[in-house]
Amino acid sequence: MTRRKRFRILKLTLLAVLLFLNACAAPGSKSAAALPDDFILGMDISSVLSLEESGVTFRDLDGGPADLFTLLADHGVTHIRVRIWNDPHDAQGRTYGGGGCDLSCACEIGRRAAENGMQLIVNFHYSDFWADPGKQTPPKAWAELNPDEKVQALYRFTSDSLQALRASGASVAMVQLGNETNAFLCGERDWDSICALMNAGARAVREELPDALIAVHFTNPEREGSYEEYARQLERCGVDYDVFASSWYPFWHGSLDHLSEVLAAISELSGKRVMVMETSYPYTAEDSDFFANTAGSGTQSALSFPYTEQGQADAFRAVIDAVAGIPGGLGAVYWEGAWISAGGRSWEENRAAWDSHGCGWATRYAGDYDPDAGQYWGGSAVDNQAMFAPDGRPLAALDVFRDARGTKRKHR
Ligand code: CA
Repeated sequence: MTRRKRFRILKLTLLAVLLFLNACAAPGSKSAAALPDDFILGMDISSVLSLEESGVTFRDLDGGPADLFTLLADHGVTHIRVRIWNDPHDAQGRTYGGGGCDLSCACEIGRRAAENGMQLIVNFHYSDFWADPGKQTPPKAWAELNPDEKVQALYRFTSDSLQALRASGASVAMVQLGNETNAFLCGERDWDSICALMNAGARAVREELPDALIAVHFTNPEREGSYEEYARQLERCGVDYDVFASSWYPFWHGSLDHLSEVLAAISELSGKRVMVMETSYPYTAEDSDFFANTAGSGTQSALSFPYTEQGQADAFRAVIDAVAGIPGGLGAVYWEGAWISAGGRSWEENRAAWDSHGCGWATRYAGDYDPDAGQYWGGSAVDNQAMFAPDGRPLAALDVFRDARGTKRKHR
């Protein structure tokens, strides 16, 4: 046999082995194998401390009491996201609600996440309460500052907060410069002012946590051209960031395919990583805390999954797979996956918990700062989108974290 012939036989044998191995691969393993090691599978649990203070107990599958952080880590959650409001209290020190997420709350959540091997995504709202596309109210303490003073205050607040988080033992992987900042941040609507604020925050992150990623966060990907405009403005004014993040709620934000196209285009345009920073899906149309939910039985969703436990699991898996399929796709974070009922048997009982511990979306005490809160205060509007039943037991969707990774649950 000539050397050439021997080489050909060796090549054919190798090819046959490869084809055999490929045929043996388990069905459905393609997407799991495609998930990069650094892919973020996160959950926002900003309300957790207020729920625990209200007496809410999370449970393992057997119904026994369990620590939420331990449960999430065991199920494959890699990152915990937490919002930070500068001062979510009225002049009498009463909580605005929404989990009462100030810096000390974030430090506690970050510490417990780290103790369970999970990293932290810090979500600065740069406000004293909820910031979103229609609402970017500066903190009370910054209300009278001129633009330059506000930039300096934002830098100082970011820097001080990150130092405190580091001292608490939190392992901060990523820092968001604002929440859903659609051409609007901390009271500013022109891009030069927005960029100056973002760059002040970015400078603090680079100085305090040089290994952390910096994220910018927007929503309404369904609005044609909006993300491209944001990316171009950030580029024009030289904002220092690593991750372009989007909310994606299937009731409001267009199709998942469209989101993927938009994020892929942004990744190519900007050269940054992209991710879904907030998403969720109902497992039931029923409310469990006597405060109406945002997505009930009449809701139209871009996803065709039913509002069942399996439908919720399939919906989250679809989002993970979509982001994993985008070049530059970095991860997906489920929003407030543990924001269940305070556990009262009536609206009055829950109201007492909302007022005392801030485990509802808002209290009346926020009314002076946020007129919506003064009018519509109450409980959780997303308890039917949590990954926990009203009694605190995990739902099927919690298995998606480790299933998507293709790993088995860690037993302790
Ligand atoms: Ca509710």
